[in-house]
Amino acid sequence: MQILHPFAGSVQQYNEQLADPDCYRPAHCPQCQAKGPLTAHGFYTRTLIDTAFDGIIRVRRYLCQACQRTVSLLPEFVLPYLRSSLTVIGLFLIARLLRGQTLQSAAASAPPAMPYQRGQFWVRRFRAQAQALCATLAALTQPAPALDFVHRALAMLESTGWIAAHRFLFAGVRCHLLGWPRGLAPDGRRAAFSSAAAPA
Ligand SMILES: [Zn+2]
Repeated sequence: MQILHPFAGSVQQYNEQLADPDCYRPAHCPQCQAKGPLTAHGFYTRTLIDTAFDGIIRVRRYLCQACQRTVSLLPEFVLPYLRSSLTVIGLFLIARLLRGQTLQSAAASAPPAMPYQRGQFWVRRFRAQAQALCATLAALTQPAPALDFVHRALAMLESTGWIAAHRFLFAGVRCHLLGWPRGLAPDGRRAAFSSAAAPA
């Protein structure tokens, strides 16, 4: 299970303070609610593209001795299952959907240079998610008067701040800003397959 690393600095600052496992060690297991701090359990690596970074970051993992499941601490500037940082995705969506730039020019305004098809994929997912975002973000900010859910969701994200909104969505209500991949919906956990849940 992925939970949020409560850290909003730069990629470099994140890398520097990652050495100390006690820094953000979860005080209890979020999966089985066993009491007692989790055991440090190494790292996994993932790629990250940010405005001034393109490379590999480490993500710290902890193990719950009671249920033997791992918890990884994802930094706040990334969205689960997406390579580009939240900042890069936000810049692109604003340029394309709020300012009406073409796909190519929106891709150019969200550095570093990237194929516009990647942005097209984010736009598709954001459109599908916009109405749910508006409803959920209403807990944080006034719904903005807007033409449609896409414009309203963008205005609400801009007024809340993308990272603060993501923190609330992900840590508070297990909602993915661009929607969980199929198979992890609705809350980002791998559903245990049970025959009772399967339609006959
Ligand atoms: Zn546990």
